[in-house]
Amino acid sequence: MTTQTSQGQLKDHVLDAGLCSVCGACSGLCPYLKPFQGRVAVVDKCTLTDGRCFAHCPRAGTDLEQLHQDMFDSSYSAEPVGSVRKVRITRSTDSAIRDAAQYGGTVTTLVQNALTSGMADRAVLTRTVDGRPVGVNVSTPEEVAESAGSNYLASPTLAALNQRNGNGGSVAFVGTPCQVIGFRKIADRSSSTNGSRGNPVVIGLFCTWALGHSFLNLLHETVPDGELVKTDVPPPPASQFDIQTKNEKVSVPLDDVRPHILDACATCHDMTAEFSDISVGSAEGISGWNTVLVRTERGEKLLQQALDAGLLESQELPDENLEHLKMASSNKRARAFQRLSESGDNPEELGHLQLTAEAAHRVLGQS
Ligand SMILES: Cc1cc2nc3c(=O)[nH]c(=O)nc-3n(C[C@H](O)[C@H](O)[C@H](O)COP(=O)(O)OP(=O)(O)OC[C@H]3O[C@@H](n4cnc5c(N)ncnc54)[C@H](O)[C@@H]3O)c2cc1C
Repeated sequence: MTTQTSQGQLKDHVLDAGLCSVCGACSGLCPYLKPFQGRVAVVDKCTLTDGRCFAHCPRAGTDLEQLHQDMFDSSYSAEPVGSVRKVRITRSTDSAIRDAAQYGGTVTTLVQNALTSGMADRAVLTRTVDGRPVGVNVSTPEEVAESAGSNYLASPTLAALNQRNGNGGSVAFVGTPCQVIGFRKIADRSSSTNGSRGNPVVIGLFCTWALGHSFLNLLHETVPDGELVKTDVPPPPASQFDIQTKNEKVSVPLDDVRPHILDACATCHDMTAEFSDISVGSAEGISGWNTVLVRTERGEKLLQQALDAGLLESQELPDENLEHLKMASSNKRARAFQRLSESGDNPEELGHLQLTAEAAHRVLGQS
C-alpha cells in the first residue's frame, strides 16, 4: 500500500475540497506551495509523507477538544465565544492611532506595547500592498502603526511567520480565527526558532468571513485609482461595505460583496478567535471602541500593562452587546457544523474538526 504524500492530502482534503482559507500556514516552508492570486498554488510535487504543510493546516485534522485541553485545561467549551476570563471594551488613548485603526486601535496599541515592554521581540502582522494583504515581520512601534486597519481579503499572513527562521525571539501574532488555529498548530510542531514556541502572544480578530481574490475586480471598478487603506462592514441595518482609500471613503451594497466571500468560510466554526490569548472585535453600536475578550493569563498581562501605562482606556461592555455577540458566534458555529455534517462522508463526524456530531450538539447546547 502506498502512503499518500502530505502535499497530496492537502490537495485532496483541503485545496480541492474548497476548505482552504488561504491563511499561509502551509506556505513559506517549502518551495512547492505558494500563495498566488488568492489561493494556494502547487508549484511542483513533493514526496514527503510527514510534511508540515498538511500538519499545520487549520482545515485539516484539527482536534478542537485537544487544542482546548492544551490551552485552557478544559473541555471544548459550550460557551459560544470560547473560554473567557474578562470582557471589556477598550480604545487607544492616542487619537492618531484611533484615526488610522479599524475601530479603537486596541490591536495596534497592544502589539506596540508587547514590543516596547519586552513581551515580544517582533510581531507578525498583515499589511496592505496594492490592495492585497500580505504578512510582515516587524519590530518597531512605527512599523506596527503601518499595519493599522483591516483588509477583508483573506491573507496568507502565516507564510511570514514560517519564512522567519533563526533569531526568532518571542513573537506577537495578530490573526483571524483560522490563522490563529494555524499558529497554534505550527507552535505545537515547531522545532524551529520562528518564535511560535516558548512565550508567544496571540491576538485574535473577530471574523465572520473573508473575501477571495475576485473581490479585487470590484475594488478596482469602484476605486480605480485609489490606494486601499482599509475596508469595513458597518453594523446592521447598514447592509453596506465601506472601502477607505487614501483620498475617499466609498460604500457599496453588501450584496455586491457577498459573492466574493471565500467558500471555506462557510465551514468555519470560530467567530471570535477562540484560541487566542486575547480576542479583539468591534463594539457594535459603540463607535470607535473595540470589544475585548481576555482568555489567558498572558492576554490579561498584555491588556493590564497597556491600561496601567495609560495607552488604552477601558469600560464595561453592555450586557446586550455581549448577548448579541454570543448569538452571532453561536449562529456561525451552528452553520459550520451543519455544513460539515452535510458535506462529509460520515454525518456523525465533523470533517476536519475531528469533532463528533454528539460533541457538536453539546457545544451548541442541543443536548
Ligand atoms: C477578514 C476580516 C474579517 C473581519 N470580520 C469581523 C467581524 O465579523 N466582526 C467584527 O467585529 N470585526 C471583524 N473584523 C475586524 C476586527 O474586529 C478588527 O480588526 C479588530 O476589532 C481590531 O480593531 P482595531 O481598531 O484594534 O484594529 P487595528 O489597531 O487597526 O489593527 C488591525 C490589525 O488587523 C490586522 N489585519 C488587517 N487585515 C488583516 C487580514 N486580512 N488578516 C489578518 N489580519 C489582518 C493587522 O495586522 C492589524 O494589526 C474583521 C477583520 C478582518 C481582517
